[in-house]
Amino acid sequence: MPHLEMIKMGESLLDSIEPGGLSEQQIHSLHLVFQNTLVAALDALDKGRVIKLVTPYGRHFYRVYGGKEAKDKYKYVYTVHPQLMSTFPPSCTCPSFAYSVLLSDTHLMCKHVLAVRLGERLNKCIIQPASDDDIAELCFPPPPDPSSKAT
Ligand SMILES: [Zn+2]
Repeated sequence: MPHLEMIKMGESLLDSIEPGGLSEQQIHSLHLVFQNTLVAALDALDKGRVIKLVTPYGRHFYRVYGGKEAKDKYKYVYTVHPQLMSTFPPSCTCPSFAYSVLLSDTHLMCKHVLAVRLGERLNKCIIQPASDDDIAELCFPPPPDPSSKAT
């Protein structure tokens, strides 16, 4: 279980990030807290896989495309809510979030949530209008692909 102090440190580090980029010290500190999740999150950001979908009503949600290979970019899609409300933790539809964050409680957040948090601070999310289908999928997500193993 992540220690409360580690959670506070992680939140504080994320809040300290400015849009200009990460300093060497920030990268080092973030890596101490998030370990390899940081590397995967930065990779997703660099590859343009973090999408901020804005609804016509002014609300927004995020999608992060997974897959290790470039050809898999659109094969794995996860919906992320970085902060539902201040009293609720963030959520992601990936298997890693369910297992590592919710069940085993070994990680503060999955790489998709971290990618969204970093992307928001660094202004690196790709902003797109949400279609009616995107909004409908929030309410009725497609069943998981049983062959899905990538996160
Ligand atoms: Zn995730």
